[in-house]
Amino acid sequence: MNFDLLIDLHKDGWRQGPGSEDASLQALTLAGLCAQGTPRLNIADIGCGTGAASLTLAKMLDADITAIDLFPAFLDILKTRAQEERLKGTLTTLACSMDQLPFEEESLDVIWSEGAIYNIGFEKGVSYFKSFLKQGGILAVSEITWLTHNRPDEITKHWDTNYPEIATSADKISILEDKGFVVKGYFPLSEDCWLENYYKPLEGRFEAFLAKHQGKEAKELIEAEITEIDLYRRYHDYYSYGFYIAQKI
Ligand code: SAH
Repeated sequence: MNFDLLIDLHKDGWRQGPGSEDASLQALTLAGLCAQGTPRLNIADIGCGTGAASLTLAKMLDADITAIDLFPAFLDILKTRAQEERLKGTLTTLACSMDQLPFEEESLDVIWSEGAIYNIGFEKGVSYFKSFLKQGGILAVSEITWLTHNRPDEITKHWDTNYPEIATSADKISILEDKGFVVKGYFPLSEDCWLENYYKPLEGRFEAFLAKHQGKEAKELIEAEITEIDLYRRYHDYYSYGFYIAQKI
């Protein structure tokens, strides 16, 4: 994987995966975090990219937010964006891998992670992230999810090859419960979260990207994106990202 190419293709997107401000707000409501009078929260947004969700959280909550991503190039853009917004909370960026977090155990009120936990895998990520949450703390995470039990072979094969941990919401919820969470909510992301907010803007950058990068790797990267988008357009009834909101007990 050529990370430089991947970063260059994605850095100008408002977001680097499917989602929406409405979905983040819905998750916040399900988490019970919008209530007035909550004490100042300590939050980490893990795999934040250029910070679509981090900015929503910082606009909504009087909280100290650490936005974490592996790639400093994304965080630099988030820092610029944060200067243009009126934030209630503080926003600090941190470049590190999500499997080597520098937090103390039981020190966070909320761990947020949209479209990113797959990088270490859902089950491993849920256990690892839990160790940093205080008792009663919230995990809000979106993860690719089957919406049905019966599906066309082509789409089952694609995701089983690319991310074997894909499963139904019942399976994902069961993992959360096994690990010691109470699930406060689940909802699948809408089609707009994928097409309007992520895939269409991404498609709009293909031409300029290919003009700038003329090698084989760039071409292959775009071909892989085209395949993924085509599968989504044909099979969106069968999968989405599921947003899971869970509380550590
Ligand atoms: N949450 C953002 C980005 C989702 S894309 C959004 O919804 O827009 C997944 C993000 O995970 C990317 O920004 C990528 O750089 C980051 N990432 C990939 N591997 C990582 C790792 N090991 N540690 C931290 N971040 C990682």
